[in-house]
Amino acid sequence: MVDSKPLFEHNSLKTSFVVFVLYCFSGLELYSDESKLNAKQTKVLKESFSYLETLEPKRIKIDKPTYNRLTQFESIFKFAFSGKKLSRWIQSRINKYSYGSTGEFIAMYQDGDVLLGRAFFSLNRLDRVLVLLHEARHADGKNYGHVVCPENFQFLNPRDWKIHPAGKKGCDSVPDGSYGITAAFLFELGAYGYLNQTEAAHRFNSEISRVIRD
Ligand SMILES: [Zn+2]
Repeated sequence: MVDSKPLFEHNSLKTSFVVFVLYCFSGLELYSDESKLNAKQTKVLKESFSYLETLEPKRIKIDKPTYNRLTQFESIFKFAFSGKKLSRWIQSRINKYSYGSTGEFIAMYQDGDVLLGRAFFSLNRLDRVLVLLHEARHADGKNYGHVVCPENFQFLNPRDWKIHPAGKKGCDSVPDGSYGITAAFLFELGAYGYLNQTEAAHRFNSEISRVIRD
């Protein structure tokens, strides 16, 4: 195997050249390890929307005065609660989905594109819908960008306990930002009996904890 070393050197030079050429032509995409969703990931994404589209208003399971006092959905979205309409609302705001490293986040929004991290695909369908709804709100401009959570923020991140929101840009200062709209959606799921009241309330409280009013 006397020629193994020169062969290796030759190959690595060739590889470096190919990587360099790819880098030049693909710009940031290679750098940030983004890729198209594979067939399995596309299926998971489609299933998330199909699930959302099954959530339609039926008979309200809580008393009407309580519903009327607490519902926020229609005043935020300008249409009555409907999973189908909400699915279109999300899809009209997100042009492209890709897969890649999202660091401390489950997903990231930039210029109409959503980058989904590995964790997204192991969430249950409701959590996936909440993530998509959250990211879609970012399409509505910088008014809906996050603000830094207080240093003494003590609530857990329900989807990943390793992520500590304190002192990070993971809160909202407006009531109808990404966290306010997911809370409004969860309220409807509780009101229409798609979630029991205990789960709906826990989930609602968790989202609303990120809305900081001062
Ligand atoms: Zn966000």
